[in-house]
Amino acid sequence: MSTTIARPEKREKLYEGKAKILYATSAPDLMIQYFKDDATAFNAKKKGTIVEKGIVNNRISSALFKLLEENGIRTHFVERLSDREMLCKRLSIIPLEVVVRNVVAGSLAKRMGLPEGETLPWPILEFYYKRDDLDDPPINDDHALVFKLCTAEELETIRREACKVNELLTKFLDPRGIRLVDFKLEFGRGTGRWQGQVLLGDEITPDGCRFWDKATNEKLDKDRFRRDLGKIEESYHEVERRICGA
Ligand code: C5P
Repeated sequence: MSTTIARPEKREKLYEGKAKILYATSAPDLMIQYFKDDATAFNAKKKGTIVEKGIVNNRISSALFKLLEENGIRTHFVERLSDREMLCKRLSIIPLEVVVRNVVAGSLAKRMGLPEGETLPWPILEFYYKRDDLDDPPINDDHALVFKLCTAEELETIRREACKVNELLTKFLDPRGIRLVDFKLEFGRGTGRWQGQVLLGDEITPDGCRFWDKATNEKLDKDRFRRDLGKIEESYHEVERRICGA
């Protein structure tokens, strides 16, 4: 339970990514995730800033991780510490980007030569090799196992948990007027108190999920930035309002 974990002190910077900075803490099995306003797309070929994105994404991600934890998903989330900081369990990230799709959009639309918007008869789970220098190529289960990115047991857990996350998020977002089109998850191996556990990590925000308005199919996510559709900040705030309340 997150409530029993004592707050550690913030220590040195461990890693700076495209949208977040990770800091070590006085507890070796915990870290602090700091959410930035920087936005990138197409593997950082396009760069920009979305005003207050870090604050909004920290709120959205905290609310969604809390929901998942309360429904039996093991995650890295401990608590939201401040506007931009989240206390997390420290993970050794499994180098897989796990994408779950409910609706044809993005690279699936391109790959299959289909327009965006058709609901799939059942969700598609995809894996990409998390390697910026290779532009995160698509892979399958065999690649993951042959190249020892994870064990067969870990892969089974990842598949099961990703499907459960999809069900829980869809059920939560639907009455809030949000169509969960697709999203990307990352998993990692816990350390210290969480040694031996596979935990859901990273973030769940409009940066890594496609959220469409249920009534109009208006895009409320990072595609507004990727495709220069305008109203970027407004859309992120709208998602925050629907998920976290006013
Ligand atoms: O681009 P594509 O259609 O494959 O993206 C599927 C989903 O995964 C989208 O919700 C997108 O935001 C997310 N994604 C991500 N990071 C990546 C690639 C995709 O968050 N590197």
